[in-house]
Amino acid sequence: MKNANNEKNIDKLKQAGLKVTHSRCKILEIFQSFPDEHYTADKLKDQLDDQGENIGLATIYRVLTQLEMADLIQKNNFNDGQSAYEIKKSHHDHLICTRCGDIIEFVNEDLEKLQEHISSKYNFTLESHVMTLFGDCNKPTCKGRTKKND
Ligand SMILES: [Zn+2]
Ligand SMILES: [Zn+2]
Repeated sequence: MKNANNEKNIDKLKQAGLKVTHSRCKILEIFQSFPDEHYTADKLKDQLDDQGENIGLATIYRVLTQLEMADLIQKNNFNDGQSAYEIKKSHHDHLICTRCGDIIEFVNEDLEKLQEHISSKYNFTLESHVMTLFGDCNKPTCKGRTKKND
């Protein structure tokens, strides 16, 4: 399974006109192995370090830009901090816990239609949208929760 994935990645890189380098393969592989994850450059660096991969931050940033331009990953600017990247999937929006940073993905057809409706009302051709809802995940496992709420 891992090999099949690897070959697929190599094809994807080639199709995107990118040379198949070790760092590009490794980084793309992480995104594909964890399709629900959203990685900042730092988080990706930690993940690579854990796998014993010594790839510097400058390279990571460069590869992220290349993979994004090749439309293999998506860049999200959730806050003032680092951009968070994820593997390119079908359209979805995000809920983000401001306490622990947990990210939940969702799609709501009513919401999608409503945005079309609003746009057409203003004679506006909607091309894309970004919807990010911030709040408290309310999970008992939330790392940002304080004891006083117990
Ligand atoms: Zn996402
Ligand atoms: Zn939380």
